[in-house]
Amino acid sequence: MMAKSSFSVIVVGGGPVGLTAAHALSKAGIDFTILERRETIIEDIGATIFLWPQGMRIMSQLGVLESLREVAMESQLGTQQEHDGSMFGTINSPEWCHEHFHVWPLTMARADIVKILYNSLPENARSKIHVNKKVASTTSLPASEDDGKRTRVTCADGSTYDGTIVIGADGVHSVVRKSMAGVGPEFPFQAKYRILWFHYPRAPDTAATIVYEVHGKGLMLQILSTETSSFALLYKRLDKPHRGYVRYTSEDMEALVAEAGFLPVGKKGRALRDVWATKTKAGMANLEEGYLKKVYSGGKTVLVGDAAHKVTPHSGLGLNEGVSDVVSLVNELGKAVACSGGAVPGERELELAFERHQKTRMPVIKKGNLISWLSVRQGTFRNKAFWLMGRVILKMPGVDRLVFRKVVIPLIQQGVVLDCVEQEEPFLGKTAWKNPMRNGKGDAKA
Ligand SMILES: Cc1cc2nc3c(=O)[nH]c(=O)nc-3n(C[C@H](O)[C@H](O)[C@H](O)COP(=O)(O)OP(=O)(O)OC[C@H]3O[C@@H](n4cnc5c(N)ncnc54)[C@H](O)[C@@H]3O)c2cc1C
Repeated sequence: MMAKSSFSVIVVGGGPVGLTAAHALSKAGIDFTILERRETIIEDIGATIFLWPQGMRIMSQLGVLESLREVAMESQLGTQQEHDGSMFGTINSPEWCHEHFHVWPLTMARADIVKILYNSLPENARSKIHVNKKVASTTSLPASEDDGKRTRVTCADGSTYDGTIVIGADGVHSVVRKSMAGVGPEFPFQAKYRILWFHYPRAPDTAATIVYEVHGKGLMLQILSTETSSFALLYKRLDKPHRGYVRYTSEDMEALVAEAGFLPVGKKGRALRDVWATKTKAGMANLEEGYLKKVYSGGKTVLVGDAAHKVTPHSGLGLNEGVSDVVSLVNELGKAVACSGGAVPGERELELAFERHQKTRMPVIKKGNLISWLSVRQGTFRNKAFWLMGRVILKMPGVDRLVFRKVVIPLIQQGVVLDCVEQEEPFLGKTAWKNPMRNGKGDAKA
């Protein structure tokens, strides 16, 4: 564990990425406060999470992987159908993950990962999480007040919190981002698609280990499952691109189900409208896309997760990359604290730490955004070129495997791990990790 200093971090947002920050900062011995606008951290809200090996490896370091396995399901295969129900392909990426990293990806409800991340925090870390704290702004403190507290966060209720730096983990409509200079416009991400998602009890003839996909003009459907629940994700292109928040109503959801209710759910003659009738919860949102070219402002504020980059969920990368941001950032903060001999690192040193973090993450973020951008357009037959790519070229023998090996494997392989945790690699397949875990035996091995 690193030397303690009065270096302190304020994390805005207690979603899955903010809670990962609580774990990581706690393990690195860095003081923190988390401010969350909701009344409670554990709420039965949000859609689905598909955890890829790079995310699972981080969860393993945080000590929560086994608890996640209890509520999750291993995804082992996928099937692809047309709107009329005819089969046109399989999705073998889980199998290839297993081949390369010796682990199956996991599917779970977002609410479950939030609950497990929160409940597994040590008591002293949980006591640093404050709810009912809607952050309104962040400001710099005058240099004369510089006792290691350089930023002030002001909440809507008038309360203030001072820290050395602020990490914005406050989602796609980030307030922290709005307060930052030099990161771009107020709404940097544009939406061209929206999603209707809902949960319903899994039917016995829906295999929980299979991801079902339906592709076709303008509409794409994904069904993922756990032992007890199925999660439907229906994508539709917006009439025109949109920036900023949109609140959808239950009438909007019903209207989309009326339009797309004919889509097949599995091979047993069931349709989307049938499973919609059994839903236990639902939501609709625009799907913003994009990433910030710069995620920090000076040595005081830095963004992680959806606040910094946003993908459509079809490839299941958003949270995986958000938790990876936290790990990369905490590693750099740990180095900065260690270099300052335990004293509060200077503003310039922290800016350099943010810069190194961004340099580590940017190539992966760019690639993840491109993969997600392509996949939603292929699945909704955006135009002839995307149709050709998704339905013809990728379906030629060996092509999807080659693309996975050349594009997706390197993205997973670059997964980051916490420097401050010593552990044996949990997943060793035929592809070595680029950032091996420190195993406490002198040097890292993978
Ligand atoms: C339908 C759907 C399916 C998805 N599937 C996957 C998947 O399979 N795999 C995957 O990796 N990702 C998936 N994602 C993406 C994933 O859910 C997000 O990337 C992830 O939730 C981002 O986490 P976050 O903590 O950065 O932001 P959020 O989850 O948005 O959390 C932000 C938190 O900050 C709080 N907050 C916001 N503003 C303030 C404020 N002013 N003051 C204080 N607190 C504030 C919010 O209340 C919230 O708790 C999916 C997303 C959707 C919509």
